[in-house]
Amino acid sequence: MRKKIGYVLAVLAIALGGTMAMSTVSPSTASADACYTWNRTLTTGMSGSDVKELQIRVAGWVASGENLAIDGVYGAATAAAVKRFQSGYGLAADGVAGQATFNKIYSLTDSDCTPIHFDHSEFNYNCGARNYNGGKVGAATARENARRVMWQLEAVRHKLGDRPLVVTSGFRSVSCNSSVGGSATSLHMYGQAADLGLSSSPSQCQMWNSGKSAGFEELLGPGYPGHNDHVHMANKSSRFWSAPNC
Ligand SMILES: [Zn+2]
Repeated sequence: MRKKIGYVLAVLAIALGGTMAMSTVSPSTASADACYTWNRTLTTGMSGSDVKELQIRVAGWVASGENLAIDGVYGAATAAAVKRFQSGYGLAADGVAGQATFNKIYSLTDSDCTPIHFDHSEFNYNCGARNYNGGKVGAATARENARRVMWQLEAVRHKLGDRPLVVTSGFRSVSCNSSVGGSATSLHMYGQAADLGLSSSPSQCQMWNSGKSAGFEELLGPGYPGHNDHVHMANKSSRFWSAPNC
């Protein structure tokens, strides 16, 4: 209940439009249960939309080279990812998602229902258009794809010691992509890619390597043409990892 009141206050503060107003109300995690609430303990053998929402949030906790299927079925890979997530955040690691796991996820969720260290506002810059329109998929799909990437990046960020990762490019419309010299098949046009710039705290090679165990099948870094000033991480079905200088 308190969280819902916090959410209402946060919305009011946004309506008032003041940064000062925002700073005097609830903490940034206040609206977690306004985004998604789990109502049962989840474990191997279960399935449903609640499993799928869990999978999205632990997809960055796979083994190197693994890519967790977001299919709503709680199998061995999901259990292993949950176990790594729990271990990564100092929880009892049993691979069963119960209240402690859900509470940790709520605490990692902010008011736009993205993980606390990433926001739609940095993914939808889109050459200044500030939306998810004009890509290779509809805006709602691109936005959802970006949300999934953000949860994987939240895992990368935590594994690299909770140091800032700076997104320099997220979603791009087809025209935006061509104006910045992106590949004609760029996953940025699907909302499935993020570029992490040099003002990030970890090194390029640290980020590139960490992406391997966060479910990213496309990872491009230093030494790969056009990637000496950022690391590109994206979700695709086939693997393409390249960073000759790492
Ligand atoms: Zn990129």
